[in-house]
Amino acid sequence: MNSPLSPPDGRRQIRRHSGDRLDIARVRRSFPALEQLVHGKNLVYLDNAATTQKPRRVLEALTRYYETSNANVHRGVHDLGDRATARFERARARAGAFLNARQHREIVFVRGTTEAINLVAQTFGRCRVGPGDEVAVSCMEHHANIVPWQMLCNEKGASLRVIPITDAGELCVEAYEATLTERTKLVALAHVSNALGTVNRVKTLIEIAHRRDIPVLVDGAQAVAHLEVDVQDLDCDFYAFSGHKVYGPMGIGVLYGKIQHLEEMPPWQCGGDMVKTVSFEGTSFNEAPAKFEAGTPDVAGAVGLAVALDEIESIGRSAIAHHEACLLDHALGRLGAIRGIRLIGTPARRAGVISFVVEDQPLTAMDIGIRLNLEGVAVRTGHHCCQPLMERLGVPGTIRASVGVYTTLAEIDHLADALGAIVATARSRPSQRESLEIADLAAAGYPPATAVSVGAAASALLEELDALEDWPERYEYLIELGRKLPAMPPELMTAAHRVRGCQSTVFLAPRARPGCTDRVEFLAESDSEIVRGLLALLQRLFSGQRAVEILGFDLGGFLARTGLESHLTTGRRNGLAEMIRRLHAFAARTIAKADPRTKHQEHS
Ligand code: PLP
Repeated sequence: MNSPLSPPDGRRQIRRHSGDRLDIARVRRSFPALEQLVHGKNLVYLDNAATTQKPRRVLEALTRYYETSNANVHRGVHDLGDRATARFERARARAGAFLNARQHREIVFVRGTTEAINLVAQTFGRCRVGPGDEVAVSCMEHHANIVPWQMLCNEKGASLRVIPITDAGELCVEAYEATLTERTKLVALAHVSNALGTVNRVKTLIEIAHRRDIPVLVDGAQAVAHLEVDVQDLDCDFYAFSGHKVYGPMGIGVLYGKIQHLEEMPPWQCGGDMVKTVSFEGTSFNEAPAKFEAGTPDVAGAVGLAVALDEIESIGRSAIAHHEACLLDHALGRLGAIRGIRLIGTPARRAGVISFVVEDQPLTAMDIGIRLNLEGVAVRTGHHCCQPLMERLGVPGTIRASVGVYTTLAEIDHLADALGAIVATARSRPSQRESLEIADLAAAGYPPATAVSVGAAASALLEELDALEDWPERYEYLIELGRKLPAMPPELMTAAHRVRGCQSTVFLAPRARPGCTDRVEFLAESDSEIVRGLLALLQRLFSGQRAVEILGFDLGGFLARTGLESHLTTGRRNGLAEMIRRLHAFAARTIAKADPRTKHQEHS
């Protein structure tokens, strides 16, 4: 599957799929990652907004580059150096052609969208923004398009202005205009929202800003895989995207900047390749884009990205757009018909993404994501790095299904069927709380020790877990444990007992056991079934046990031994770490109180 060499302007001769119709079977065959089973089910990969899978041509190009052309660029006097440089610069031209940049000097290779935005904030932004000035971002931005501007504003004594959105998740042009003032020095906007899929009318928004001489950066991370992007037509000042979201490798991305801006901007990171001459008296810098590419670049990544862009064009951008529009229409119909599902964001123009929550269920978004995973379906849950947007929409997070060129209607059906079944089962199962009488609730109280020591409790748990075959079975076991979690009286659910960082609401209330003050017992509660399971596991290990044993127990080793650790996401791992930190801190205090001469260090 060798790709043809490109002409010097980077516009490759593209071998098109027939017509405007997408040959989905052929497309899928070229993505090896799609061929795997997850928990015994066909993988249904619907997390394309986080990252896309890679076509075989890209994988082969990476290998081929390292096999035949690997050398450092812009400095070799040997053949390999020349070849690597030629391929790197050809990739730049390819990216330039993909965005329809006027010249390939307008393309800066970066690690991804995040780095591109930081580059602009730290160079262009630092030169242009001063005390009292304003930078405008929309309410639907990814953190990567908020925090760099917030830091810049803090540094310069400027303010960050927020362009409001409607309940449908769209930018309102009048509100946008009202946000811009004579102090606005830059606007930074997503082309497509990663959390809602909203396609912003960036061309109009750029025109409005330009009428006031305000430059605009467009975060194109979620757009390039779905829409045709023409930076000349948009007339944006900067456009950023990540290779890995457009079927290319991770670690490579593109910043497009109008050449007059790039020429004006000071360098950012400094080192080799971005300088002309260096002496101890001073340094002169290279021209753009080399000025912004200090050090050894990701040449293989650039080469792989160029091949990914070829692949997109060979499939045909309009064929992709048509295919994905059909998928989204179908998904909106199917998901919208499931009782209890509420779509978050109903924009008139949407690309790639559908977000929703499940209402009136004893399950959080995270629980549903985990259960979908057990059905082979990969989705993303949480705030999607858009915390201000979640706050605006009044939800802690959403479940996000995001499609790609290889997604099929059958996969959307699989998602909808699995989701419908999960929701129906959850609805039909009374929670522990509901199944207990009020009197039982009061009687449940703090759970006593389940074994003579923490070690003995751990052995008993391990024995039970070892008898289970795989993660799905262990997951169900955890959920069952969680269903038996003794209820926590509402008066204990206070801010002081709230545990943060768990992607769900969690309370943990420890106390010294009355009459046995060297022992710790605790009640806990969460709105997430998996977190309730983890809390129940901790209770079986620790509640009613001696504080000194709780502190001395190797919980990390225990979790690794159970195999649970590998199934905990960073969020859940952080949450669990925080619960344990709380317990350890309380245990240390208990010991200190029981014997004030003993100073136990609080574990963190
Ligand atoms: N902007 C948007 C809209 C995104 O969706 C993302 C990633 O999800 C980013 C920026 C950051 O991209 P990266 O992590 O590739 O730098």
